[in-house]
Amino acid sequence: MNIKLYNSLTRSIENFIPINSDEVKIYTCGPTVYSFAHIGNIRAFLFADLLQRVLKIVGKYSVKWVMNITNIDDKTIRDSKIGSEAWLKEWGDQSNDPHKNLNTLTNFYENEFFRDIEKVGIKKNDLFATPRATDYIKQMQDLIAIIVNKKLAYASDGSIYFNVNEYRKTDKYGKLLKIDFDNFKAGLRVDTDQYERENVSDFVVWKGKKEDEPFWDFYLNGTNYPGRPGWHTECSAMKYELFGLPFDIHTGGVDLKFPHHEDDIAQSKAGYGVEPTNYWCHNEFLEVEGSKMSKSLGNFFTLRDLENKGIQPIDVRYAMLSAHYRTKYNFTIKGIEDAKKARLRVQDYIYSGLEKIDFAVKNNEPTEKINTLKNNIFAHLADDLHTPKALATLFTFINNTQIDSLSECEIFDFINVMKEINEIFVAWNFAKPDAKKENNIPANIIQLAEQRLIAKQSKDFAAADNLRKQIIELGYNIIDTKDGYSVVCSLSVQK
Ligand SMILES: [Zn+2]
Repeated sequence: MNIKLYNSLTRSIENFIPINSDEVKIYTCGPTVYSFAHIGNIRAFLFADLLQRVLKIVGKYSVKWVMNITNIDDKTIRDSKIGSEAWLKEWGDQSNDPHKNLNTLTNFYENEFFRDIEKVGIKKNDLFATPRATDYIKQMQDLIAIIVNKKLAYASDGSIYFNVNEYRKTDKYGKLLKIDFDNFKAGLRVDTDQYERENVSDFVVWKGKKEDEPFWDFYLNGTNYPGRPGWHTECSAMKYELFGLPFDIHTGGVDLKFPHHEDDIAQSKAGYGVEPTNYWCHNEFLEVEGSKMSKSLGNFFTLRDLENKGIQPIDVRYAMLSAHYRTKYNFTIKGIEDAKKARLRVQDYIYSGLEKIDFAVKNNEPTEKINTLKNNIFAHLADDLHTPKALATLFTFINNTQIDSLSECEIFDFINVMKEINEIFVAWNFAKPDAKKENNIPANIIQLAEQRLIAKQSKDFAAADNLRKQIIELGYNIIDTKDGYSVVCSLSVQK
């Protein structure tokens, strides 16, 4: 099926056409590993994961997905510096070698990052490469050398800056966001990795060495510039090295459009002479209870914070995927609870289907009814990854179709189609309820189930219903069978 994507470069939805029809290359700006991933980060990586899964499952492409690890930038250096507050709180003893401290800090958070994203259903194995910035210093220096030799960058006080004004004589600066150049002062320099659009100026591509900071020698035209790369330079060099340019899709949150992605385009164009990426895809912001997430407002959550509140990471995935990636996502605890209920409603339907069919009898016949459902869901996913419409289509089907009204053939087909859809949503379990009965169901759940059976036998359906609700709230579900019931764990998700 043809995939359509919103391209930030053209500000329009376009038919996606890969450079090589056999393989789509996606580069995702990965985490800066100086702390645990917060839920805003998680949304950006879930978007990238959704994109690569839709390209595989709906578009039938093979995908080469790269996500870099920013293990050197202003923040990682700040937190690994000798005597830094963040460090002392976490580890205590420190080495005198800034490189060693940087590695300790960033390796720790990199491992934790991959642990976190696996919990929300992003498989590290789906990533072709996860390059660390510090492993590509040579390639970054090579890129900077070309730009300097083309007179599009210059040295000043031991650092090297990209000359925006010079670049603008031959190319556009401001491809992703409109930039007002009225107040632009040529030669004004910015040293930080992050800065506002209003402060557009010559940006740093190589930062001169500072005391107690990790650095690398950089011999350029007979002079040594000991220092370290600017953040924007990292992605330009890594994607060139791993993919070659141009390649298909670069993803990130909208906050990366400027300066990170704009500067990336300018450097790649200046250094390698080509537009680096055909499709720039960005996900919108995440807010918490209607406000910008910030530590000072007390509404800043890491995935771990949510787990401590008893929220399952997989419900965070489902809730975030229930909203379109280009709309602001308003994170609320109530929203997560509602998403969980919706997810379990589908799970119940799947379980009822599994109860009614015998998998020993193979039945792979596609049926018209289910084929239509699948085509409709896939069409929404192909249309700029419209997950809310895809899920609405699924719910309309479930709400209007009693499982008993489906033939055995249709149920077989439904389960198979749902398995395919689950390759994108990673939200449901397909183990037959009986097979799960052996799984350690806690005694209190069994007790509730027994009470419910008794209530049902004595025709106290209100009490039976109430007990069923309690069981569901505790993360389990109960399926009626010929011999009584079977209890399953609703929360477990098939890996
Ligand atoms: Zn990047």
